[in-house]
Amino acid sequence: MKYFTLVFFTFLCIPSFAQWPIELMTKPERTSYQETSTYVEVMDFISEVKKGSNYITQISMGKSLEGKEIPVLILANPKISTPAEAKASGKPIIYIQGNIHSGEVEGKETLQILLREILHGDKAHLLQNQIILFAPIYNTDSNDKLGPDNRPSQEGSPIVAGIRASSQGLDLNRDGIKMEALETNGLIQNIIVPWDPTLFVDLHTTNGTWHGYSLTWAPSYHYAGEKAPYDFTWNKLLPEVTDKVLEKNDIYLGPFGDFYGVKEWPIKKFYTYNHQPRYMVNQLGLRNRMAILSEAFAHERLYQRINSTHAFVTEILEFTNKNGKDMMAINAKAEKDAIALVKEQGGKVKKGVRYKMVPLEKPVNKYRTYGYYTVKDKDGKTSYLRGPGIVELDNIENNSAFEATVESTLPKGYIIPAEFEFIAKHLEKQGATVTKLDKPARATGESFIVEKYTLADRAFEKHNMATAEGKFVPETYRAKKGDYQVTLAQPLANLIFYILEPQSDDGLVTWNFFDDYFKKNGVDKGPVKYPVFKYFEIK
Ligand SMILES: [Zn+2]
Repeated sequence: MKYFTLVFFTFLCIPSFAQWPIELMTKPERTSYQETSTYVEVMDFISEVKKGSNYITQISMGKSLEGKEIPVLILANPKISTPAEAKASGKPIIYIQGNIHSGEVEGKETLQILLREILHGDKAHLLQNQIILFAPIYNTDSNDKLGPDNRPSQEGSPIVAGIRASSQGLDLNRDGIKMEALETNGLIQNIIVPWDPTLFVDLHTTNGTWHGYSLTWAPSYHYAGEKAPYDFTWNKLLPEVTDKVLEKNDIYLGPFGDFYGVKEWPIKKFYTYNHQPRYMVNQLGLRNRMAILSEAFAHERLYQRINSTHAFVTEILEFTNKNGKDMMAINAKAEKDAIALVKEQGGKVKKGVRYKMVPLEKPVNKYRTYGYYTVKDKDGKTSYLRGPGIVELDNIENNSAFEATVESTLPKGYIIPAEFEFIAKHLEKQGATVTKLDKPARATGESFIVEKYTLADRAFEKHNMATAEGKFVPETYRAKKGDYQVTLAQPLANLIFYILEPQSDDGLVTWNFFDDYFKKNGVDKGPVKYPVFKYFEIK
């Protein structure tokens, strides 16, 4: 009986814990989870894992400032190597990246482990109905700028980790609109636009809130985008994956949020992150696609964070392997709806261009958090000290909805004067279709008159971000030959709208693209017209 049990147990365990050659063990696995892999070690691991597999193609997303290729692994059965082959297969494409903030290392390690398990272990079935793209080390340069103090809330696990910013000094998760980082250009132009992933997953680690989950998640927020991809992610994908991870791994996952310090106990609310499409996960929503932010819990040890990230990504891939076709259909319909709205209602309906965070209608019950002692000092002042255990709280306000504070009319399209070619080129880099007028055209619509143009006092991402206040006035506009026309009746309608609207809280005005123009035209002395014209009809 004992022998039988042992055999049975061994049989159950063989797949994940099969014998592996040392070359297929990741750096943390080889070092009792004390160390994380360097760029060279990731590249060496990829060379080893490719050996003996027919289902992997390695491409490069582009080069970093220090000249490092950013590897992307395409996993497909049968093997494919181009976006055209992927499209012809009819399968959904699931793109998952690690290391956007390179001190947050577990995504990078998890994707290496999953490469091994999908290509050589017990997870080959994950390639039945989908194509998987892994980018384990997105922020290559900064991964190797190792130090003990780069991630204080990780409490020395791993002993040293890389830094957050890229080697250009940019936060790669704030660059989605302005596209100043080489990495962002590689990601958008060489992966997102040509491969068009059905689902985008961005792997991070939190910065410190002592909630009670091993990993927290967020969808791409719907705000100015189509709601259906958000609804599916929020109502079906994330709850199902969360249940499966608990059932199979005894790991608790929950909604992403921060308390910003415990100021009362029990806490009553938590807040998610901002809605702007500068965050890549949000931007995918404006592209009518699904996306997930994954945040391992910083205070757990590295082995636990790898374990929870591995469980989460595994169950996402199990889910997409089953439901990927439905997800493609939801995304395709969202794209059609966005175009139909422009065609049928362009010039008539309004959409939000600035938002504020508000609570969801439904509070969270059984919300997990570390418990806090309420402590009074000798002067009678109250403070809160964290206890060692997790408690569950009911009726907790979940601030993860967004409400428009400024709305603007959705046009049929925009005219960009010829001298603003750099704006047209920027839209093309984002994947938009822009056409050059080969003859003059007459358009009716609105111009925006900027009456107040403010630059932020403090720099953020090397920018003193701009805010334009003013009013729209009706105008008949004579577009010249050589001007650029951007119709919104195209798949990226929602993204283009958010990028070009002058009052947008994350558009090209925000990121100073029009500073020189406004200054030259004396915006500090009087009103100046925003040079991009918004048309409702064009002839
Ligand atoms: Zn992060």
